Amino acid sequence: MLSHIYDAIIIGAGGMGSATAYHLAKSSADVLVLEQFQRGHTLGSSHGEVRIIRFFYDKPFYTELMKTAYAEWRNLESESGKQLLFITGSVSLGKSGNQYVMDVRNSLDAAEVESEWWTATQFVKRFSQFQVTNDMDILWQKDTGFLYASECVSTHLQLAEQHRADVRENTLVTRIDWQTDVPTVYTEDSKFLGRKVVLTAGAWTSFLLNDLNLPLTVTKQQVCYYKPADVTLFQPDQFPVFTEITNDDEFMYGMPYFGKNGAKVARHGMGKSVTPDTCNRTPEQGYIQRMDTYVNERIPDLGNAVHSEVCLYTETPDENFIIDKHPHCPNLLIAAGFSGHGFKFCSLVGRIMSELTLTSNTTFDIRPFSINR
Ligand SMILES: Cc1cc2nc3c(=O)[nH]c(=O)nc-3n(C[C@H](O)[C@H](O)[C@H](O)COP(=O)(O)OP(=O)(O)OC[C@H]3O[C@@H](n4cnc5c(N)ncnc54)[C@H](O)[C@@H]3O)c2cc1C
Repeated sequence: MLSHIYDAIIIGAGGMGSATAYHLAKSSADVLVLEQFQRGHTLGSSHGEVRIIRFFYDKPFYTELMKTAYAEWRNLESESGKQLLFITGSVSLGKSGNQYVMDVRNSLDAAEVESEWWTATQFVKRFSQFQVTNDMDILWQKDTGFLYASECVSTHLQLAEQHRADVRENTLVTRIDWQTDVPTVYTEDSKFLGRKVVLTAGAWTSFLLNDLNLPLTVTKQQVCYYKPADVTLFQPDQFPVFTEITNDDEFMYGMPYFGKNGAKVARHGMGKSVTPDTCNRTPEQGYIQRMDTYVNERIPDLGNAVHSEVCLYTETPDENFIIDKHPHCPNLLIAAGFSGHGFKFCSLVGRIMSELTLTSNTTFDIRPFSINR
């Protein structure tokens, strides 16, 4: 017979689940975290060493929410004593008159976040690693940087455990029975009761919510890493985060040299639809060639890719997150569909999910993330 009832059972210990566990455990909640693989595994969406953090959004509500997300990352650094957030500044490049870059500038202005237009001459004077043309729009924003992603996840989990969360790895959740007042979570050989269940299952979300038919598409993404001959030019204090909308409407991005793999450059989106359990994780050569061509034109000193990795996006049609209660069960909370731009928000999503768990409400405006939007 089941007697123990957890305050919260969190399914999935990736970026969002680890942050939720931290916030809840810190509030003295009795928390159980169930993760199907080992912590830090490389089959989901949060592995790897770096993720961009920035205010840059063409939708103003994201820019506004980022103010709290930054503050929460800083709080995590203070509590853990580790540096997790590295500020480099960023440039956003696009052909002149590019609507996306214009919309980003408007969002930044509305949120009173400083940014500056630069000429090509100003830009290459500051960052001679780049080759750009005079017909490009170049927007500089000083607060952008990157998060030490794998360390963020492990730090959230470690601190959650210090605050007495019970984190169980290699524990696959097979079913959630939410049709009772206290939902039951089934694993392969056990079941657990939680006053609230928080589903942060990334690319596997739909398997546990097949009654809802959520509009989530899982896609295969790839990233490349570069090890230039002169690494000093690409250190975080010498080289910015950058993004570019190319003439072919590809969304490229890159970061300084950090960690064991080097400087990361990738193309956002355009991945094939896959399922997380059957996705072929072998990097594709055609993608690597495309990235090398781009890099040789824009940042030639980076050379050619030395390493490539696969990762998964879980995309919604409008690329906005899903953060909501299950429509038929207020005790089942869902955070999913982070559409390739969620990592920077983990610290905030953890806080929101914690508030929803403890008070059934949140102080943040999550209407853009409702299931029924
Ligand atoms: C290549 C790439 C680059 C990116 N770059 C950026 C960036 O620069 N900036 C940014 O902000 N965002 C970026 N993102 C997006 C960001 O990384 C994701 O939005 C975020 O990591 C999603 O976290 P998650 O917790 O939803 O998923 P995950 O981290 O995948 O976590 C889900 C977890 O749930 C577990 N799980 C699933 N089902 C079960 C089950 N039934 N039982 C038990 N456990 C289960 C999984 O094993 C997994 O550990 C990038 C993503 C990728 C792939």
